[in-house]
Amino acid sequence: MSKFWSPKLRELTPYVPGEQPRERLIKLNTNENPYPPAPGVETALREFPVDHLRRYPDPESRALRDALAKEFGVEPEQVFVGNGSDEVLALAFQAFFCHDRPLEMPEITYSFYPVYCRLYDVTRRALPLDDQWRVDLDAFSQEAGGVVFANPNAPTGHGHDRQAIARLLSRITGSVVLIDEAYVDFGGESAIPLVAEHPNLLVTGTFSKSRSLAGLRLGYAVGSRELIEGLERVKDSFNSYPIDSLASTLGIAALADHDHFEACREAVITTRERTRGRLEELGLRVLPSQTNFLLVSHPDIDAAQLFVGLRERGILVRHFNTDTLRDFLRISIGTEDEMDSLVEALEPLCA
Ligand code: PMP
Repeated sequence: MSKFWSPKLRELTPYVPGEQPRERLIKLNTNENPYPPAPGVETALREFPVDHLRRYPDPESRALRDALAKEFGVEPEQVFVGNGSDEVLALAFQAFFCHDRPLEMPEITYSFYPVYCRLYDVTRRALPLDDQWRVDLDAFSQEAGGVVFANPNAPTGHGHDRQAIARLLSRITGSVVLIDEAYVDFGGESAIPLVAEHPNLLVTGTFSKSRSLAGLRLGYAVGSRELIEGLERVKDSFNSYPIDSLASTLGIAALADHDHFEACREAVITTRERTRGRLEELGLRVLPSQTNFLLVSHPDIDAAQLFVGLRERGILVRHFNTDTLRDFLRISIGTEDEMDSLVEALEPLCA
């Protein structure tokens, strides 16, 4: 704590991301993709003219926005890009949720949202999940100052289909509904086709998960022109060059390779379901998942104890030390070999 810190900074509890260990561990704690990015990304990296780094990047990131617009069947003016979806989310909170009506979100969802609320003085109303630990869409109210949730949700893994989201949007028309689709490519259904009819819908996505580019920091939002214009306004007052020229080039190369994208996500889904069965055989309870992770608990063994036991055996998973999640471990889906090692390490711990 420093005397130079503002009172607000002193009170701030920052988001703590999963550990990036220095030693060689099997890393199943931050939902990264276990497979490399598309081969075209490596080629684009090798061929990138270093002289381009001398110049500022295109402030409008036209080339990447065009590529994303084509991918999603929308106009480039309906696409916004930023340094990871975390940055896009931060800009969206500033653009749409800084007013006196509370922002509604599930009690259990991405833990960065409450951090943004504290940072930008957004009042928050947390709503319980339903009895099957799904986001309760009926609980969001018309009077909300906005709605935000991840779909599929994190770290619970369940995703609502597009029809359910459309029903929500037919009810909530007076404020922005922000749907974070960081994990949608692993079995969820995207709400992007609904942006055409719902000017208050903003969908965010990322290159960090299904595109294997977490280190590049590339995220985006798709929505109506008026919402994208709102994001541009905040961005321009903050950093008018959100995406560097190298990230933009590599992002375009990643989008170009559909076969690699499909193969990787199918592999992750297959491994996830195989792992689920094996964990259940060990006596673990595993929540249904449409993501690249599983949320698991053991009826008799402490999750904290399993976390430590796995770490001692060279495997890093995520344990959230919060009231609602203390009994659970979140395990990212790695390669088949990594998941074999996980099951092998868990066998004696669960015996
Ligand atoms: N949303 C959710 C639900 C996440 O789990 C994450 C990753 N921690 C993000 C957004 C942010 O991803 P990125 O900034 O890498 O795009």
